Amino acid sequence: MTQVNEQAVQQMVTEVLKHVASGWGDRANPTPGAGAAPPISRVSTQSSGYLPTRVMSGAAPAMPQASAGRFGQFTDVNKAVDAAKTAQRALVARSMAQRKLIIETIRGICVDQAEPLGRMEYEETRIGHLADKASKLIAVGQNPMGIEMLTPPAFSGDHGITLEERGAWGVIGVITPVTHSLPTVADNACNMIAGGNSLVVNPHPGGKKIAAQGARLFNEAIYGAVGIDNLICVITEPTLDTAKAIFSHPDVGLLGVTGGPGVVSAALHSGKRAICAGPGNPPVVVDESADLDNAARCIIEGACYDNNLLCLAEKEVFVVAGVFEAFMEAMARAGACRISTQQMDALARVAIEPGANGAHPHANRKFVGVEPEVLAREVGVSIPANCRLLFGQTGPDHDFVMAEQMMPVLPIVSCETFEQCVDCALAAEHSFRHTAIIHSRLVDHMTYMGKAMDTTLYVKNGPSMAGNGAGGEGYGGYSIACATGEGVCTPRTYTRLRRCAMIENLRIV
Ligand code: NAD
Repeated sequence: MTQVNEQAVQQMVTEVLKHVASGWGDRANPTPGAGAAPPISRVSTQSSGYLPTRVMSGAAPAMPQASAGRFGQFTDVNKAVDAAKTAQRALVARSMAQRKLIIETIRGICVDQAEPLGRMEYEETRIGHLADKASKLIAVGQNPMGIEMLTPPAFSGDHGITLEERGAWGVIGVITPVTHSLPTVADNACNMIAGGNSLVVNPHPGGKKIAAQGARLFNEAIYGAVGIDNLICVITEPTLDTAKAIFSHPDVGLLGVTGGPGVVSAALHSGKRAICAGPGNPPVVVDESADLDNAARCIIEGACYDNNLLCLAEKEVFVVAGVFEAFMEAMARAGACRISTQQMDALARVAIEPGANGAHPHANRKFVGVEPEVLAREVGVSIPANCRLLFGQTGPDHDFVMAEQMMPVLPIVSCETFEQCVDCALAAEHSFRHTAIIHSRLVDHMTYMGKAMDTTLYVKNGPSMAGNGAGGEGYGGYSIACATGEGVCTPRTYTRLRRCAMIENLRIV
């Protein structure tokens, strides 16, 4: 890393603020003495939150390399944890208004720089659909979750008053996936900092540059706004060893892990408390009462978004036999491309790998997040340029059903009865307890499947992401802690409950 002097750093901050700046709106100024607030503007999105109507364009900010140890750039875990510890102490000494300002600063960058940062993420990871990358950052930028979620409940009675306040853990060790590298760093940072914490992030090596670049932008702007550096520290050369060093560091109070089964197991065996947003393989059930055209449109919208990279995206569909062919026709009408059962088999042979030692089959990395035409080409099919999803009939035990494929091809299974559909859905979900979806007009069926699946998200008659705030009610997030039960993570998830009790006094009524 290049060494920079103080003047160069100042210049860098000014540059960042220029990139971020475009109007502070009606927000209050930060606490006096905390430095100038970077003005931030927002752009509007469609109601789904994933699909922007306007995205700021322009080249990615060409920043000079920050020196190691500044603006969250670290190769050494011990140094990163030390810096994050210092930053966290400074954070909790500041006002809640400044904490709010920090979160708005991160969210503002996500919105204003969505297009160039999304492009950088795509150019580095080479997975997913370029046009969807910016909308993921905008979804993070528009997430309303903040310090308001920490409002303490109070108990007031004859014996006085007790408050239950939400305190920080300190430094949180964070693992992020390659499927949404910067969106997860940004989303985790907002939630964790809102809770009074700092972060040391070990990103997936395949998305390390965008994680580091995003963290640098956030830290520079935060430093400009409140004068605290290194709230978000990133290990710029992440390995399994650096992950282990974070997991075992005595000054890391909590782990926040987002990824597949391997990292969840490693975190849960670390000896630390871990909040684990683990894998999913979300099944969809379509019964005979469903609006088949709506079901097809919703399933395509969810399954093709970012080429099926989302953990909550539709991964397999079970349809009651009586409406199976009508549903397949609805899928084709809605724009997905049907391939034959033999072609589904042939594609699975190259795109899915068997699981070792009894593990489930899993995606061949070479095909994760590729465009549908790449998959079609593998089986000698040509598809229209606007086709975003392949689909085809398979049996219930097919590799595409059992694997979390994370690519835009959907296996569709015909089952004799609704109950058989749910049984197959349960088997395919592998007890991850992540997400399940139903298309039905029968409340009894909705209730039956909801109870049987026992998943964290359960979506009825909409695309999967509607269960994560995008087109449905409620908030969203990039870490859905299905493995450890916290659900869609918020600032509250990353806090410790602390009691403050005044005995026999302070009650004024
Ligand atoms: P991955 O499991 O290959 O990697 C995830 C992260 O874990 C990476 O940073 C990786 O370097 C790290 N890692 C892997 N094994 C580790 C170990 N033994 N010790 C320490 N770190 C380890 O997954 P990916 O391909 O990056 O992401 C896709 C997976 O993540 C899918 O299974 C998806 O369902 C899941 N995911 C879940 C959520 C959620 O909110 N539940 C969100 C996004 C992704």
